[in-house]
Amino acid sequence: MNPSTLVISHPDCTKHETGPNHPESAARLAALLSSVHAAIPELEGRVAYRDGRHAGEADLGLVHPHSHIARVRAFAQQAATAGGLAHIDPDTVVSPASYEAALGAAGSVLTAVDALTDGSARNAFCIVRPPGHHATADRAMGFCLFNNVAIGVRYAQEKGLQRALIIDWDVHHGNGTEAIFYENADVYFISMHQSPHYPGTGHSAHRGHGPGQATNLNLPVPPGLPATHYKNELQRGLAQALTTFSPDVIFISSGFDSAYGDPLAGLTLAPEDFHYLTEHVLEIADVHCEGRVISVLEGGYDTELLVDCGLAHIRALARLPVC
Ligand SMILES: [Zn+2]
Repeated sequence: MNPSTLVISHPDCTKHETGPNHPESAARLAALLSSVHAAIPELEGRVAYRDGRHAGEADLGLVHPHSHIARVRAFAQQAATAGGLAHIDPDTVVSPASYEAALGAAGSVLTAVDALTDGSARNAFCIVRPPGHHATADRAMGFCLFNNVAIGVRYAQEKGLQRALIIDWDVHHGNGTEAIFYENADVYFISMHQSPHYPGTGHSAHRGHGPGQATNLNLPVPPGLPATHYKNELQRGLAQALTTFSPDVIFISSGFDSAYGDPLAGLTLAPEDFHYLTEHVLEIADVHCEGRVISVLEGGYDTELLVDCGLAHIRALARLPVC
């Protein structure tokens, strides 16, 4: 029997360096991956690990113009020439291996799409970095170089999964994903985020435009919002989306920086809350799209919390109790 859940990563993802004291470190990914590998034997055969592939330039081109792809590659070459790091902006750092890491991150999402469409898994969690949801089509920002989820959505559309629901529960607004799909009727984007907070976008009045009118739903919430309220609000938003939109696949921009104790934010979710929300997403996926869910790691900057939340998320994807 196939495992229900694939965990996917690429070895290059840990080669992206951001320098000392940068919150988005290779150590966070290494810790989560090693905990996942240790946990897989206890997950009743329901979870398997698979290496992702590199995205090709044509795959990146589903979302990003050639000029942006070339610019990211040039920054990585500049870092190699300098023997260190190059800064795209004060937050967004590139090292010599960052371009390959970004290809591995986006490519892992493509591998997830392949696995769901060839029937070798029901859902997948891509443990990748650099993250993606702040990257617009032509701009890297907020630690993000290419928009991994957006590339995955466009690739899924090429494979016949036309209508995608994207749920972004990272604590920061997914401004890049919003911008990419703002006028697109086939992609419904829901972002739940702390407000006010970086990057300053995500107003609830921004509902999409043109053919994409009413397919963008921002749910800004204040710091300190109790987890129960957070869960209710997200479930309400999902119910609202599903009155007009039936997805063929669901993507999650899964940032765990909305957990209580994350050093970059002030929300209050516990690992059990991510388990609960994941179960809720699977219920929706069962009704609308044969269980197809592709979750992609975004933020989460306390390593221990990231591990606990990530494992709870995987247990829910595998339809196992929280522990
Ligand atoms: Zn974030």
